[in-house]
Amino acid sequence: DNAQPKKPDWIRVKAPTSDGYKKTRDIMRDNKLVTVCEEAGCPNVGECWSQGHATMMIMGEVCTRACTFCNIATGKPPEDLDVFEPGRVASAVKKLGLNHVVVTSVDRDDVKDGGAEHFAQTIRAIRKQSPNTTIEILTPDFIRCDDSALETVVAARPDVFNHNLETVPGLYPEVRPGARYFHSLRLLQRVKELDPSMFTKSGIMVGLGEDKQSVVQVMEDMRAADIDFLTIGQYLQPTPKHHAVDRFVTPDEFANYEKTAFNKGFLMVSATPLTRSSYHAGDDFARLRAA
Ligand code: SF4
Ligand code: SF4
Repeated sequence: DNAQPKKPDWIRVKAPTSDGYKKTRDIMRDNKLVTVCEEAGCPNVGECWSQGHATMMIMGEVCTRACTFCNIATGKPPEDLDVFEPGRVASAVKKLGLNHVVVTSVDRDDVKDGGAEHFAQTIRAIRKQSPNTTIEILTPDFIRCDDSALETVVAARPDVFNHNLETVPGLYPEVRPGARYFHSLRLLQRVKELDPSMFTKSGIMVGLGEDKQSVVQVMEDMRAADIDFLTIGQYLQPTPKHHAVDRFVTPDEFANYEKTAFNKGFLMVSATPLTRSSYHAGDDFARLRAA
């Protein structure tokens, strides 16, 4: 069965109650926006939203993939892409007054360009309304598209291009069916080839059953693909139907991963139990740019 090992005390979640949290929630509701923070039941929502840091999820609430760690609804999306969504995302970003925004999406294998043009429009809409906000996108893998899909997104010039590898290659068949490890790596490498000034970022979850050696191998593969930033966080099982937690990686082990990653040349690394792809993304990026 999928019973979880007991949650250790370093996985604490504060109940979201602050005024800042409520303000962020209202702006999301008013603009009819979906966030991965809520959809994925992210443990950091109280902290992030109190500062207005919400990760918006575009292209609908239904994903055409079915990753076994993920709590997003899967199936055939009921609706076409919403042409007004880029504008709504842009106004929410402006209302939140964000210095840095992270925009992600479901996978839309049903759309010819995988949603590339929609991503590009969203980036352009945010830029227009908030020219000083840095933009980080967390994209699908565009595996069914031709090369022009990625080129369209890169040409819109996000500041950070993020695509998560999610786990070690050996666990792909059970964790990320429908995706291919080397395709995802190559995607990020191509971003850098298309625009060497763009920062690239990727992340994995641990505690899914991987061994340390394969995590270190993933770091090496990422550096060989010129990936700049790395995130590593503890996998948490969203419901009993999802992939089981194999184990809780200790804070010391995370600290060791972080050290190893910096030694391998990543510019920015976040490796803690509650690290998520978008956790403190703005603070970390601002620090890097100031350095
Ligand atoms: Fe949202 Fe990311 Fe913060 Fe989680 S870590 S609440 S997904 S912004
Ligand atoms: Fe979830 Fe992304 Fe996988 Fe879709 S592609 S199931 S949104 S992790």
